[in-house]
Amino acid sequence: MGQFEPPEGKLREEYGFFIDGKPDTPVDRERFETVDPSTEQPLVEISAGTEADVDRAVSSARQALDEWRATSATERGQVLFQIADAIRDHSEMLAVIEALESGKPYTQAVFSIKSCIDYFEYFAGLADKVQGDTIPMGWEYVDFTIREPMGVTAHITPWNFPTSIIGRSIAPALAFGNTVVHKPAEETSISALEVARLAVDAGLPPGVFNVVPGRGTEAGAALAGHRDIDSLTFTGSVETGREVARLAVDNVAAPHLELGGKSPHVIFPDADFDAAVPSILRGIFSANSGQSCTAGSRLLVHQDIHDELVDRVVAAASELTLGPPMDDPDMGPLVSAAQYERVTDYIEIGREEVGEPIIGGAPDRTGYYVEPTIFDGVSNDSRIAREEIFGPVLTVIEFSDESEALEIANDTDYGLAAGIFTSDVGRALRFARNIQAGSVFVNEYYAFGTQTPHGGFKQSGIGREKGLEAIRTYTQTKNVGINIEV
Ligand code: ADP
Repeated sequence: MGQFEPPEGKLREEYGFFIDGKPDTPVDRERFETVDPSTEQPLVEISAGTEADVDRAVSSARQALDEWRATSATERGQVLFQIADAIRDHSEMLAVIEALESGKPYTQAVFSIKSCIDYFEYFAGLADKVQGDTIPMGWEYVDFTIREPMGVTAHITPWNFPTSIIGRSIAPALAFGNTVVHKPAEETSISALEVARLAVDAGLPPGVFNVVPGRGTEAGAALAGHRDIDSLTFTGSVETGREVARLAVDNVAAPHLELGGKSPHVIFPDADFDAAVPSILRGIFSANSGQSCTAGSRLLVHQDIHDELVDRVVAAASELTLGPPMDDPDMGPLVSAAQYERVTDYIEIGREEVGEPIIGGAPDRTGYYVEPTIFDGVSNDSRIAREEIFGPVLTVIEFSDESEALEIANDTDYGLAAGIFTSDVGRALRFARNIQAGSVFVNEYYAFGTQTPHGGFKQSGIGREKGLEAIRTYTQTKNVGINIEV
């Protein structure tokens, strides 16, 4: 182990479910193994949830709903503040878990835990600020709206930021009076089990937050298609998003989808290169090895600065360190063998489409490591520029002027995020106006926060999370019209 505490005592050998406020593990359930991506060795065993387990979790959430939604919003907020404190008190344990499960460097895992705490505190504060409108319907009426919880909310999450996403997706649901059933990703289920346990210890009533780990096709599909859920929040791939949305809509449960991306990061000659280069690196390499739906995976560079900028990006990327998460390098291994295969397959596709990458590839070592990889001279029509790779692979595309940059940037099925570097305010604002993306970053990739709404245009999703927009996602409006002349 490197400079951080070894994980002894932080992981149990076996994990089950968390239903009705307590660990719940029928002994006869099939178990699946998770793997430490830096050693390729087994990490822990987890029970695979079945339809029956999802059913028990949903009915626990249904039973807990009346009491939780009737709890005053201020009190709900206080419970969320207590959960935030509990997570903070256990952040080292949670960071070790996230680092080991996902392979991300320890410092980045700490950031994911901090982000989860931030969400809990943000939505704790927002809980009692959700209010309706009065609507002028005429002299003889009083009309007002109430924002009520959706009910039982289902959450299916990915493995890339497992703890942060609990804050983003589950904290607002809880704050506004909903109850929760969560199916975490197979690779990273422990974070969710630990946070749910901490939440109950911190005062969340039993049944309000249930976790059923398991396979996507079994526990995930059972949850998405459960007749008794009222909304489904899904973060993951477009293909699975389509499938789960169909299942949810069959029961008229509202689907909220945050899906993939192939986000453009556009650099103009008047950019501040000293700021742009580290931002490009964070956008696709150093932040979670590019395993992020908002990753800036298409670098659009003006032809006049192409050589200088690409040289600087290559030089900086060559300095990034790769290693096991607890050594806290710049980049850890990819999360799983499947992800490693997917990314290295795309590197092969890139070799066929545009030739050798100017830097990168997969080193010959144990662990699912892929170096920062850059393909230069890429056409926006190639597969490596159109399909989401979800790893540290950057495609460099040249443009000659602003309108061509915009055309290429928008020429994608996705629309999650877009970045621009320029010192021309008008150009930045024209880009922000014309780009088809849910988040626009000017002069800093990932310039967003807990408070800012996030979601996708086009194939990148339906609905918004984070910020005040979460109120729309996790409440439904009731209108009350009263004739006051009767
Ligand atoms: P990835 O391929 O990167 O794992 P997915 O979109 O398949 O991305 O997975 C995101 C989440 O969706 C995970 O929790 C996974 O278990 C779940 N999942 C995968 N397939 C299904 C499915 N058919 N129905 C419901 N959930 C699924």
